[in-house]
Amino acid sequence: MRIEVDRERCVGAGMCALTDPEVFDQDEVDGTVLLLEPSPTGAHEGKAREAASLCPSGAIRVVG
Ligand code: SF4
Repeated sequence: MRIEVDRERCVGAGMCALTDPEVFDQDEVDGTVLLLEPSPTGAHEGKAREAASLCPSGAIRVVG
């Protein structure tokens, strides 16, 4: 699987970083999402999908 994030859409809610801090982080300045691992594996796949569904702005996309 591959993850894409759209930092223009991100509203800095932080649900992604709470869901899996090894895949997502937040910019220290504006709080927008930082993608640490674009191709998560194992247990991180499920968490990445969960983060995408929880994101209030639809800024996280799961590809494949
Ligand atoms: S959950 Fe969505 S809106 Fe919130 S920081 Fe992550 S990508 Fe941005």
